[in-house]
Amino acid sequence: MSELLAGQPGERRLFLGNEAIARAALEAGVALAACYPGTPSSEIGDRLYEVSRTGRLVFEYSTNEKVALEVAAGASAAGWRALASMKHVGVNVAADALMTLAYVGVKGGLVLVSADDPSLFSSQNEQDNRLYARFAGIPMLEPESPQEAKDMTLAAFALSEELGLPVMLRTTTRVNHTRGVVSLGELAPPPPPGRFVKDPFSLVMVPAVARQAHARLLAKQERARALAESSPFNRLLGSGPLGVVASGVAAAYVADALLELGLQDRVTFLRLGFTYPLPEDLIARFLSRVDKVLVVEELEPYLEDALKALAQSRGLTVPIRGKGEGLFSRLYEFHPGLVRRVLAEFCQMPHEAPQPLPAAAELLGRPLPERPPILCPGCPHRAMYYAIKIALRDLGVEGVFPTDIGCYTLGLLPPLSMADYLICMGSSITTACGLSRASGQKVVAFIGDSTFFHGGLTGLANAVHNRHDLLLVILDNGTTAMTGHQPHPGVTLTPPDYPGQPVDLAAVVRGLGVTQFWRVNPLKYKESLAAAKEAVAAQGVRVLLAQSPCPLYVARLKGKRPTARFQISGDCGECRHCLEYLGCPAMYVTEAESRRQLLIDPDLCAGCAFCVQLCDHIRPAKRGKS
Ligand code: SF4
Ligand code: SF4
Repeated sequence: MSELLAGQPGERRLFLGNEAIARAALEAGVALAACYPGTPSSEIGDRLYEVSRTGRLVFEYSTNEKVALEVAAGASAAGWRALASMKHVGVNVAADALMTLAYVGVKGGLVLVSADDPSLFSSQNEQDNRLYARFAGIPMLEPESPQEAKDMTLAAFALSEELGLPVMLRTTTRVNHTRGVVSLGELAPPPPPGRFVKDPFSLVMVPAVARQAHARLLAKQERARALAESSPFNRLLGSGPLGVVASGVAAAYVADALLELGLQDRVTFLRLGFTYPLPEDLIARFLSRVDKVLVVEELEPYLEDALKALAQSRGLTVPIRGKGEGLFSRLYEFHPGLVRRVLAEFCQMPHEAPQPLPAAAELLGRPLPERPPILCPGCPHRAMYYAIKIALRDLGVEGVFPTDIGCYTLGLLPPLSMADYLICMGSSITTACGLSRASGQKVVAFIGDSTFFHGGLTGLANAVHNRHDLLLVILDNGTTAMTGHQPHPGVTLTPPDYPGQPVDLAAVVRGLGVTQFWRVNPLKYKESLAAAKEAVAAQGVRVLLAQSPCPLYVARLKGKRPTARFQISGDCGECRHCLEYLGCPAMYVTEAESRRQLLIDPDLCAGCAFCVQLCDHIRPAKRGKS
């Protein structure tokens, strides 16, 4: 049984923020959840998927975030409560649907979780999606802890139904991945079947209907503003002439800092959780009560700008400080020490800088080894990169490599160095079209299997139709590996009870009009090199499908690790070809007895048997020997 279904109401459990959101959705009676996995949002979908196997709700890993939101919208239109979760950049993909869904409105409560990533722990940008809520005109809640993530998810479903609007729950990595104590409520019973009631003159956004719908949306925003005024998530705490405003995890840092600095009696703290529309009357009361204000928020000056505009419109002259004055940066996530320092300076408090935690190297007594993000040992992507590299070398051609989002983005680093340009999901194919058209160079684009279904299909159709010239290498490892091995439409290797119908990726490629097509197992070097040479040398749109499952996924699914290991014989010629072209992380150089030697770490070697095909000095290791 999933951990999310365990426990009695009133019990307290340790949950990740993401698990708290999933549990709250179950307590709210969510009937359908859809996601495209992406850190920091992935565990919301993963936990709900586990629960869906009990039949309590319908869950799907959608092809992309727009699809996920649209599936959720359909369920909501039939009266079901629905949840769509995604990382922040996913909302860009879903934005087209979101903008008009705000006009169409919802029937069953619909919650859109946007998991933002300040400091870009695993993302290509650090956009602040609070601006999306304002842009779309939908209510937004911003939790600061796992418990509040749970409370706000429950409230978001109710608010969505009360207003007939989707509600955005905007989290950040620090909330998604913090583990905290969460109180359990009652799980809702499985929902009855939904029913869609036709109302085309409200629900079909042709221009005449949409004009009315836009007016309705603005009226709903006014009602939402009134609800924000009395929301328990917007609180005025403490008293004193100094004002501080914060939302999200920054509010938790401020609360701790006020306590530690003993400032509760000097500071009036406006802690905002319902942050679109803003409670303007509450904020105006706060502004008229204090002598100066500090706004503490990560990323964009969303609250700060709104407060300054509100103060101007209400004739209030209280100074409002924050990012505009450089007290805080618009870059990266905050931490408690930073917030405490700025708060102390703002309040003119003597402040002792907190003792920095000892560095890990200090605790260990030796420096930590550097570990750049790299493809795992035994990764089939590395083998395919190697074959393409050798094919280009042998043909005497320089390649340009637009790449995409996934494990293979790590092809960026030496010695592979096979990622030259990257924007977003699916962009490898489309940017390859422009690059090759403009430069006439040999363009080899890389995309993963999940990403191909997410955002690659339209680009490939475009490339074929407009007669572009590019080689697309689809690196198919049979799963969405980077976010935790979630399935996608092309998967064939799944748990026995996985209900998805596999879609034949090769047939899709051919169906999009691609006539030059190769399929290889990249771990079979001769075969993949021959195909790579043909594919590189050809002209027009051609696709090389490199299929071999992610070894970590196979190990996880089958519950065992491969036993084969490889070693380098003592008389290795040290030409360094394997290091400089392949760079498997299991290989390393040691200087023993003043003699340099190349070795393979038996604990890291995944036994893929690729390197053994490249060099006679690499051989299977005898059992028990390194
Ligand atoms: S193992 Fe083979 S390829 Fe690697 S350095 Fe030695 S001789 Fe060269
Ligand atoms: S067999 Fe060779 S390439 Fe494969 S993981 Fe082991 S050392 Fe790396």
